[in-house]
Amino acid sequence: MLSYWEQEYWQRRFDFIVVGGGFTGLNLALCLKDHRPKATVLIVEKTPHFVAASTKNAGFACFGSPSEVLHDLQLMGEEGCAELVRLRREGIAEIARTYGHRGIGYRAVPAHEWFLAHQPELYAQVIDNLHSLNRFMSGCGFAEPVYVPDVKPAYANMPGSVGIVGEGQLNPVLLYHALFDSVMRQPGVRMISGHSATYLRQGELGFDNGMVLRAGLVLNATNAFDSQLTGNQEVKPARAQVLITEPLANLPFDGNYHMDEGYYYFRNVGKRLLLGGARNMDLAGETTCEMALNPVVHERLDQVLQGLLPGREVAIGQRWTGIMGMRADKRPSLEHRDGSLHLTGMSGMGVALAFSLTKQVLSYLP
Ligand SMILES: Cc1cc2nc3c(=O)[nH]c(=O)nc-3n(C[C@H](O)[C@H](O)[C@H](O)COP(=O)(O)OP(=O)(O)OC[C@H]3O[C@@H](n4cnc5c(N)ncnc54)[C@H](O)[C@@H]3O)c2cc1C
Repeated sequence: MLSYWEQEYWQRRFDFIVVGGGFTGLNLALCLKDHRPKATVLIVEKTPHFVAASTKNAGFACFGSPSEVLHDLQLMGEEGCAELVRLRREGIAEIARTYGHRGIGYRAVPAHEWFLAHQPELYAQVIDNLHSLNRFMSGCGFAEPVYVPDVKPAYANMPGSVGIVGEGQLNPVLLYHALFDSVMRQPGVRMISGHSATYLRQGELGFDNGMVLRAGLVLNATNAFDSQLTGNQEVKPARAQVLITEPLANLPFDGNYHMDEGYYYFRNVGKRLLLGGARNMDLAGETTCEMALNPVVHERLDQVLQGLLPGREVAIGQRWTGIMGMRADKRPSLEHRDGSLHLTGMSGMGVALAFSLTKQVLSYLP
């Protein structure tokens, strides 16, 4: 039951309401305030503390391994792929420039794509296209050859591996708090957390307590949960599972590693190894918003971990899942629909995108 004061607060008319308080929602709020300093902005977030993907991700500041970029060139064509890669590069630069010195655990690291024993053809295809891939990346704003074949693969049974220049690592929760602090310092910005909006229709945001919020413009940044809020079927939830080991003596990995066209990824977190992926073991089962561990994925990650550290006893520190919002063409959509503005479907590399793509919102404002 709401008090008079609470009800009055809820019914206040804000210039903008942003639904979803992840990296995308918070960056949208910042852009709105940058552009219209006097505007009032309300952020509505359903979880009380940590959010869906933004605080649960693996902390890769990445833009695409060579096999992923080759694949994306085929999927979305040169122009679409270039726009996405450029936005990822700009997002990483923005994170490093604005938040890198604010204790978010950011560091530029070496990165690699590993090609597995069953992928000699994929490796050969990447090597054959390396020159044109590097030319393409330079057209996306990268200064040096981004993809450089490694002299020697890490394991004898691998056909090869390719080094990637320009990636970083970060602690997503610390980045989240640095961004959150910047947003909350803005006068006229408020946040209501712990309230899930039940619908967004014709610019009206409804809640199950019967309240309806209206604003000059409502912006939807619910990512994977877009279909629940608006019925948009073009963004599908995709659950991602991650494990982290206890600290290991002589961990042989430092930096970011990608395998199987992005379906597997691992990195060091200090002396721990973080490993994620294997969603492709059960794509249908992982098309869900439910935060639970899928045993098939769990088992596969354990096998991959054993393969990475053969013969070693490795204690797992923790496992968790988070929900990504995927579109078939892997490109987030920024569009006016049904009286609101929507930026959802940030896909599997949305950390960087949330810090760059959100700036495009300005051209959509009334
Ligand atoms: C396990 C995992 C690993 C990942 N690893 C990486 C990585 O290493 N690098 C990378 O670039 N990307 C990675 N990603 C993807 C990246 O985390 C996301 O693309 C990015 O965080 C998306 O940010 P967002 O703000 O759009 O979405 P989210 O962080 O999902 O935020 C959406 C918010 O909307 C809220 N919300 C939803 N519905 C409602 C409602 N009805 N009412 C109110 N609030 C609502 C949610 O609670 C949530 O807080 C990973 C994702 C996962 C799950």
